[in-house]
Amino acid sequence: MSVAVRFAPSPTGLLHVGNVRLALVNWLFARKAGGSFLLRMDDTDEERSKPEYAQGIEADLTWLGLSWDRFARESDRYARYDEAADALKAAGRLYPCYETAEELSLKRASLLSQGRPPIYDRSALRLTDADRARLEGEGRKPHWRFKLEHAPVEWTDLVRGPVHFEGTALSDPVLIREDGRPLYTLTSVVDDADFAITHVIRGEDHVANTAVQIQIWQALGAAVPGFAHLPLLTDAGGQGLSKRLGSLSVTSLREEEGIQPMALASLLAKLGTSDAIEPRLTLDELVAEFAMEKVSRATPKFDLEELKRLNARLLHATPFEAVRAELDGRGFHGVDAAFWEAVRPNLETLADVAAWWSVTHAPVAPLVEDAAFTQAAAGLLPEEPWDAATWGAWTNAVKQATGRKGKELFHPLRLALTGREHGPELKNLLPLIGRVRAVRRLNGETA
Ligand code: GLU
Repeated sequence: MSVAVRFAPSPTGLLHVGNVRLALVNWLFARKAGGSFLLRMDDTDEERSKPEYAQGIEADLTWLGLSWDRFARESDRYARYDEAADALKAAGRLYPCYETAEELSLKRASLLSQGRPPIYDRSALRLTDADRARLEGEGRKPHWRFKLEHAPVEWTDLVRGPVHFEGTALSDPVLIREDGRPLYTLTSVVDDADFAITHVIRGEDHVANTAVQIQIWQALGAAVPGFAHLPLLTDAGGQGLSKRLGSLSVTSLREEEGIQPMALASLLAKLGTSDAIEPRLTLDELVAEFAMEKVSRATPKFDLEELKRLNARLLHATPFEAVRAELDGRGFHGVDAAFWEAVRPNLETLADVAAWWSVTHAPVAPLVEDAAFTQAAAGLLPEEPWDAATWGAWTNAVKQATGRKGKELFHPLRLALTGREHGPELKNLLPLIGRVRAVRRLNGETA
């Protein structure tokens, strides 16, 4: 049986680093096994789901290079959920309940105050036909609960190892709301069964759902898939990410922090695993290195500063051909390999290219403290063509002529040539600035 996984976001907000890590791990698992990856929009919560969020999720995954082989939208599949609900009713596994939300919360509060787990007491199972007729006569509409078997539920989790739940410790879940709408606990199982999902890889916040859903798979006569529940990311201080969801959205990492997709993928593929975090240039490398056995049960910490450092390291190692199209897309049309190699050691984000592009291709106001010195240096500039050896030959001549050396020699030249205190190596920058601009800047002119 070939591996089939799915990433099933609810399009109720922006994708954040925690969600996208699960997408990536599913994708890597599928690609490693030569299997398929389904993108499924869990959009049955019609009040909170928005098409623009669904589009945003697709755009974020595409940006990261996580292509999907199949696509599904739960809101297209209500007929299938109705069929499944009918089958469960026919098998006596789905029963109508009439408690209002207030009645249920009173029951829960009372159990909790007695120190007991808030498990539904199944009082609806004791209703007679006459009781139900009376309640419906009062205008109450039923919601429907799945009747769990009070037997142990067990599975071997690919991350957590053997997991065991006592059936009696679980509460019969509501699968159908009183307005007839099916809930995630049911829809997800129906979809996973229909799409022949072999491995459900999701966050550990779903472990208790899995215990319940395994019984639903069985009640529907479907094969129970394998499971991997990954610990959820926290921030560097160990706090859940939920409070910072906006700032840690994939969109803001891309648009505000200038993070490259492979920096994010390199971090998220390795965070919480036994592998070291290193920049990787392609997803193929991450596929080759991926193994679910490397994923630890310990809580991984997401640190934006670590991601930024990794982003810089990635850029420093990126060959020109790999960024050419993106630079072009950002409007740096004349960028060539020589420019890229000169400036990349000084980049933290790709947006920093703009500053160095203007140093080599746009007028710069030079910083001149000792005009006599820089003018003398200008007079010693050799004729073009220039290459990486020009800087050494020229500064040697300036040293001979002026007696200056070290910082005294180099720093005023950098200030005049670039208008900046720091920057890429001048032996690489000088040929890109060119003789005409260099002479004028050394003479104190904006050029
Ligand atoms: N829509 C669910 C969520 O975002 C999917 C969980 C699952 O993978 O089954 O939590």
